[in-house]
Amino acid sequence: MSDNQQQISGSLVIAEALVQLGIKHVFGIVGIPVIEVANALIARGIKFISFRNEQAAAYAASIYGYLTGLPGVCLVVGGPGVLHAIAGVGNASANHLPFLLLAGSSETHQVEKGAFQELDQVAYLAPHTKFSARPASIEAIPTLLEKAYRTAYFGRPGPTYVDLPADFIQGRVAATSGVRKIAPPGPAPRAAADPARIAQAVALLKEAKSPLLIIGKGAAYAQAEDVIRRFQATVQLPFLPTPMGKGVLPDDSPLNTSAARSAALKSADVILLLGARLNWILHYGEAPKFQPDVKIIQVDVAAEELGNNTGSAALGIVGDINLVVAQLHDALIQVGPGTLGSGGNGKLPAAIAAIKDRNTQRARVVENNNVVPLKYQPVYRVIREVLARQPRKVVYVSEGANTMDISRSAFPLNEPRTRLDAGTNATMGVGLGYAIAAKAVDPGSLVVAIEGDSAFGFSLAEVDTAVRHHLPIIFFVINNSGVYHGVDPARYADQEKNPLPATALALDTKYHLLGESFGALGYEVRDLQQLEAAVTDAVNQDQVAVINVIIESGKDKKLEFGWMASTK
Ligand code: ADP
Repeated sequence: MSDNQQQISGSLVIAEALVQLGIKHVFGIVGIPVIEVANALIARGIKFISFRNEQAAAYAASIYGYLTGLPGVCLVVGGPGVLHAIAGVGNASANHLPFLLLAGSSETHQVEKGAFQELDQVAYLAPHTKFSARPASIEAIPTLLEKAYRTAYFGRPGPTYVDLPADFIQGRVAATSGVRKIAPPGPAPRAAADPARIAQAVALLKEAKSPLLIIGKGAAYAQAEDVIRRFQATVQLPFLPTPMGKGVLPDDSPLNTSAARSAALKSADVILLLGARLNWILHYGEAPKFQPDVKIIQVDVAAEELGNNTGSAALGIVGDINLVVAQLHDALIQVGPGTLGSGGNGKLPAAIAAIKDRNTQRARVVENNNVVPLKYQPVYRVIREVLARQPRKVVYVSEGANTMDISRSAFPLNEPRTRLDAGTNATMGVGLGYAIAAKAVDPGSLVVAIEGDSAFGFSLAEVDTAVRHHLPIIFFVINNSGVYHGVDPARYADQEKNPLPATALALDTKYHLLGESFGALGYEVRDLQQLEAAVTDAVNQDQVAVINVIIESGKDKKLEFGWMASTK
């Protein structure tokens, strides 16, 4: 048979296209009709990480996009597979993460006939994605995949979708037409700023009495750490990272105001905002958390973001953070950075420095409290101390209400993209997928997932995924037997008379035994000595581990929304 007559399957056409795009990992769950696709990917050397629920697979792919700057890819079945994965689509959309979802679908000739797992997925996903389409033929698959892949990360990142009908997956085409060459689109094109806006920004910064630099996860995503560090070495501004913006500038810098967050926000008269939205995480940029007449210089890749919640006080600069910060740097050097306001002299304003010291001292006292049942802060101190003794880069995944909130200040970060949490939509249930993706991206790092027991429950079967794929991750379950504070153990006695509140979970669930049943190491700890021994052992063994840390539960505490309170 000549080359021209040689036939190949649609699944191979898909696999070849993904290989040509340079894709190394695909996350997902197989079933009819995508089993052949996953097998073709594996045969072509792509690592297919198969999950237990599409939701976690989609979360994994979306954070893979954040960590690498290129779209994470997720492959699922149609109908229910897509409905489960839509959680990841929504999360990628809310957080602006580049993410390509691929799903099988029923045969093209069976539209509206009640076919197996039939759903009009293209229409369903269109409002939630940047691009949602079905190829017109098997031959059209490669170029459509390239477009969907490129669209996910060019411009403002977000999710895209390509529908893969069963008859296309199983159909055959001439090899010469089906394996059309497509090139990887390469790095996303970057735009620099309007020089007039740079001049305005410099003028504002020069006149500032109390300037503040805020760094969001857009700066981390943009991998702008080098240029921002160079800029900061010149301007020496007090700075505040958002939760996932931590590490772009090292947390241990004396100019970090995280421990005096409220005071830093309140006292700033000019703010340079790099890659963060003025949403609930930053109190909408409004008084009383901010000065009513604060001037906010906002840098974002999306022009449509500029002006949101800032009113006339804002100076919006559209452009890529790497280029814009370099432009600002050059312009500031020309006017002389020494002319910046009082914060621009390499020191925190005295009032902020005093609050930072006081809060740091207070935190130290709390974390040295060795009581049993355990409390969050001492638990985090011990974990931090053990992890500091090992040489690898640590990536922290954290979710849960108080678990996540308190962990934010307990683990200072000096490298970007080493904290992954519930993000813009406060999405609980992302942790296990995120941890698996982080380990897949950087196998040499130590990935720890610090999970509230409620958050862990959303996707605990993914411990199996980590074990099966040899992705040694340490999962901490910070177990207070409930949502938020849990409830007083005494309340479990007579539920006829005194029904349990909705925040209660089963008492002291043996999560470590669940971990062992999947083949992970399991540890239950109730005091700090046991905790230290367990973490040390898990780090040394370098296997998947589930450390079930039993901490104080509810008592009669009022329900406090700590994680919200800390952002108020
Ligand atoms: P955080 O959760 O840290 O507050 P957000 O998710 O609210 O951060 O905001 C991140 C912002 O970063 C988004 O508005 C996004 O458009 C922007 N962004 C992403 N990549 C870039 C880039 N390369 N240059 C500039 N802005 C970017």
